[in-house]
Amino acid sequence: SQSAAPRRITVLGATGSIGENTLDLIGRDPARFQVVALTGGEKVDRLAELAIHHNAELAVIADETRYEALRARLEGTGIEAAAGRQAVIEAATRPADWTMAAIVGVAGLEPTHAAVKQGATVAVANKECLVCAGPVFMAEVRRHGARLLPVDSEHSAAMQLLSQSEGVEIDKLCLTASGGPFRRYTREEMARVTPEQALKHPNWSMGPKITLDSATLMNKALEMLEAQHLFDLPADRIDAVIHPQSVVHCLVYYRDGSVLAHMSPPDMRTPIAYSLAWPERMAVPMAPLDLPKLATLTFEAPDSDRFPALRLAREALRTGKSAGAVLNAANEVAAAAFFAGEIGFLAITEIVERVLTESADLVGREPTTIEDVIVIDEQARRRARECLPAFA
Ligand code: NAD
Ligand code: MG
Repeated sequence: SQSAAPRRITVLGATGSIGENTLDLIGRDPARFQVVALTGGEKVDRLAELAIHHNAELAVIADETRYEALRARLEGTGIEAAAGRQAVIEAATRPADWTMAAIVGVAGLEPTHAAVKQGATVAVANKECLVCAGPVFMAEVRRHGARLLPVDSEHSAAMQLLSQSEGVEIDKLCLTASGGPFRRYTREEMARVTPEQALKHPNWSMGPKITLDSATLMNKALEMLEAQHLFDLPADRIDAVIHPQSVVHCLVYYRDGSVLAHMSPPDMRTPIAYSLAWPERMAVPMAPLDLPKLATLTFEAPDSDRFPALRLAREALRTGKSAGAVLNAANEVAAAAFFAGEIGFLAITEIVERVLTESADLVGREPTTIEDVIVIDEQARRRARECLPAFA
């Protein structure tokens, strides 16, 4: 209502694709929101612009070498400037009612954990947090009484579908995957693709890492692990199907044959808006889903030979323990090496598989704290880096 105090909002990863979309929605209704802190990795000019536009209290750039640039851009605005990894974590501890966790990769784990410790609402786009810290992260959520709202379109859809069945056992949760730009490629063709080709996603406009993950289908692998932790589902109840139009995002199968599906246009503002307005709904300026215009929705079984990521995900779901952390760390290292031109496209999942196979000691560890998870992540990264030359 008009009289309610504005909600205090923090956006971690404000200069990224999810961060920008979140601020776009917030900017459409400025009276309802008060921006506390915005953080960014490297884009210091954009961060300053966003902080000024949204009248933030604090802007933090993760790259310490850019502190002076940020301070200079914010001079005279009354907006505080800070820099460095620790400052990003501190920004997440400033009291806020709602935090968007949209840093990419394990780099977001500690800041997102800091937000969780406030016991308020955390909208989680940063799926790598859940994949690598799973049970530890969820235990922290419960311990601090925080509320997690998934931002991944499939998990936002799953949350909406599962709210229809509280206390009822489901048969299967099925996430859809677009199949990415190489859905129809042979392995020989995939062996030659460039980072430029991998960065052209057919349906979604997103940051570079998740766009590459969508091309290897590692994104769906991460999302299956994310779903396991978010919804506390057994490994054999989580599935994925290829759906090139990205209109159906998730399906829930029941024992009586019923299947509930969630649809929306492929635009991240819809799941972001769901997390922002929850438990209400807010208006998002976009064309409504036009089914006659779409005419056809198609589905295909994923091909594990060309896309081993889904097979690796299934194994990691069953193994549990630190399999998700090791898989994710190896994938982050391999993805960066692919972007740097050091390895080919097929090597990404091959490296993930190699590191998982050769790291039974790490995979078998059961972390009890976020710090334990970070140690496992660092060790898995080291092993992934060590095996890069063999794939160069
Ligand atoms: P992005 O690359 O566009 O943005 C990432 C943000 O994190 C930027 O603000 C960047 O500056 C910041 N950042 C990067 N490294 C950092 C570090 N070391 N320390 C602090 N900040 C750092 O990525 P994105 O596409 O917005 O994705 C963000 C997260 O949301 C990812 O986990 C991704 O999987 C998830 N996600 C994204 C989409 C999407 O449509 N983009 C959809 C679903 C889920
Ligand atoms: Mg997704």
